[in-house]
Amino acid sequence: LYDDFYVKSLIQTIEDWPKEGISFRDITPIFTDPKGMRMVVDAYVHRYMSEDISHIACIDARGFLIAAVLAYELQKPLILIRKKGKLPGKTVSQKYALEYGEAELEIQEGAVQSGDRVLLFDDLIATGGTLFAAIKLLTEQGASIKEVAAIIDLPDLGGSEKLRETGIPVFSLCAYD
Ligand code: IMP
Repeated sequence: LYDDFYVKSLIQTIEDWPKEGISFRDITPIFTDPKGMRMVVDAYVHRYMSEDISHIACIDARGFLIAAVLAYELQKPLILIRKKGKLPGKTVSQKYALEYGEAELEIQEGAVQSGDRVLLFDDLIATGGTLFAAIKLLTEQGASIKEVAAIIDLPDLGGSEKLRETGIPVFSLCAYD
């Protein structure tokens, strides 16, 4: 059973990293705690096992770690959305704004197609910029987004609300104000 207190006791807050003024939520202790890892993965398995999802898409790099296990458990194809320059072959890319500067995500051409119903996974939702870029890459190829899932939501940064305003359901295991 999912225990919010237990998972939050694993997540560490690192002040002023990677920049002054940022409180970084570090989820790596979840990966080193087998009970925590199982608790987190099982929460998604139970949520999505009876849902009409055709693919799981996930974002470089921490998103991969949970989504890969989930795809294995749910027996769904796993789609990787990666930082620029990592995927071979023909790709489609999408730039997006970071707090300072810009980043770019890529997907392989033909990774999804019209009619696909995708669960999109990342570790954390802040401004939502990363997920909006990923959504664009998936929907441009005709897929629809069934839900966006994350471990952590930072609602004060407004990303999850902006995503919901577009009609896409958003699910997070826990939130930090
Ligand atoms: P957004 O694009 O502003 O929503 O930022 C979310 C992306 O940045 C995700 O891919 C996260 O991995 C990363 N990120 C932002 N803040 C944190 C944090 O405090 N902890 C871990 N990852 C973060």
